[in-house]
Amino acid sequence: MVGTAMACSLGLDPNLEGKKILLLEAGNKKVMDKVPDAYSTRVSSISPGSATLLSGVGAWDHIMNMRCKPYQKMQVWDACSDALITFDKENLQDEMAYIVENNIIVAALTKQLENLSDQVRVQYKSKVVKYTWPKSHQVADAIPWVQVTLANGQTLQTKLLIGADGPNSMVRREAGIPTVKWNYDQSAVVAVLHLSEPTENNVAWQRFLPTGPIAMLPLSDTESSLVWSTSHRHAEELLQLDEESFVDSINTAFWSNENHSELVETAGSLFRTALSVLMPSAGSARQLPPSVAGIGPKSRIMFPLGMGHASEYIRHRVALIGDAAHRVHPLAGQGANLGFGDVACLTQLLSQAAFNGKDLGAMQHLLEYETERQRHNLPMMAAIDLMKRLYSTNAAPMVVLRTFGLQATNTLPAMKAQIMAFASK
Ligand SMILES: Cc1cc2nc3c(=O)[nH]c(=O)nc-3n(C[C@H](O)[C@H](O)[C@H](O)COP(=O)(O)OP(=O)(O)OC[C@H]3O[C@@H](n4cnc5c(N)ncnc54)[C@H](O)[C@@H]3O)c2cc1C
Repeated sequence: MVGTAMACSLGLDPNLEGKKILLLEAGNKKVMDKVPDAYSTRVSSISPGSATLLSGVGAWDHIMNMRCKPYQKMQVWDACSDALITFDKENLQDEMAYIVENNIIVAALTKQLENLSDQVRVQYKSKVVKYTWPKSHQVADAIPWVQVTLANGQTLQTKLLIGADGPNSMVRREAGIPTVKWNYDQSAVVAVLHLSEPTENNVAWQRFLPTGPIAMLPLSDTESSLVWSTSHRHAEELLQLDEESFVDSINTAFWSNENHSELVETAGSLFRTALSVLMPSAGSARQLPPSVAGIGPKSRIMFPLGMGHASEYIRHRVALIGDAAHRVHPLAGQGANLGFGDVACLTQLLSQAAFNGKDLGAMQHLLEYETERQRHNLPMMAAIDLMKRLYSTNAAPMVVLRTFGLQATNTLPAMKAQIMAFASK
């Protein structure tokens, strides 16, 4: 998603006209002549900022013509207490975000690349197997550009290599960029859910269970997408269950109060009463998500989850974008959005550099890219990791603390607006 968006974005920039842009993709070309009736299991919550980027590269119209579900509200709540937070747009005409199938995003960008064939060349089934980095001028026979060797033996040279090769980025590894990373003790089970009855379905639901968050994201009036992060063992068990038991587990996970305790409930309700005295009109009532009746055919898959942070996003003639630079837990639906933010930022800086006649692979503007993006991405990554840790326990003191925190935040519209603004970039 991110590399293809980058190629479109560079190909459309007037200041980069005449530059040779090549997209190398190890996989096949992903086109979609007709949108399949069945929803795909892999979906992303696309922020308004990412929608603007996709619109700027001409892919958003294709997405809207294919399939996409806007939503206006989000409810996040704790399974160990009554604490909840809701986010909604004051003006219900405005979208909070959009749920889009990943293969639709890629197909839309691919379609747009076809329109840009004069500006961007694309080679599918082209796996890079080796990178040779530029050496300093003193070294005899050194190549001043990055050399790329493909599995078929072809070699290419470039003034700027943009690594959009995902969380296990070979570009990052071969460039020797230090990376902080760890695997979470969780895997995500994803599936397409059929709802018991048609609803407006314009709310994204997420409940924090002690084993991990479970989210139900709207796809249509009758279908939603499940992202259930849980222990690896539980995830495997969920995949083995027959459909009826799987559906029961989902409904129980959203509805049951088995993790509530008397101590936390008493503390939470006292705190809520105190808040309602201080701020009588603030806060919001808890709603229950729609019940699930079935799942899409062959729609259950699991993914191990991890976090990764490249401490440098750039080297001389190299820049990392997307999951190659940062990988996050899906609980905030931000991974691809951070990547699209990288695309917007890097395009703007490269465009400016080209306008000023600069070497595109020079450090000066690449450093600006790194600074600007790390300033945005790092606080987001830290917040997501903290949320994951804060909610991975049902120890009473921690539950009381987070209950107070969530309840207090829910009564502060200005703070909620700031959180929403940060997440929608
Ligand atoms: C369960 C789950 C739910 C998620 N939900 C959301 C969400 O709601 N919102 C959101 O914003 N994000 C979400 N994410 C995160 C999002 O899916 C990722 O951030 C995003 O897919 C990363 O895209 P990317 O293009 O950077 O990397 P990738 O998708 O990993 O793409 C890397 C590309 O590089 C190619 N490649 C790799 N190596 C080579 C090579 N040697 N030569 C040539 N090509 C190569 C691969 O073929 C691939 O096409 C979710 C993630 C998970 C696991």
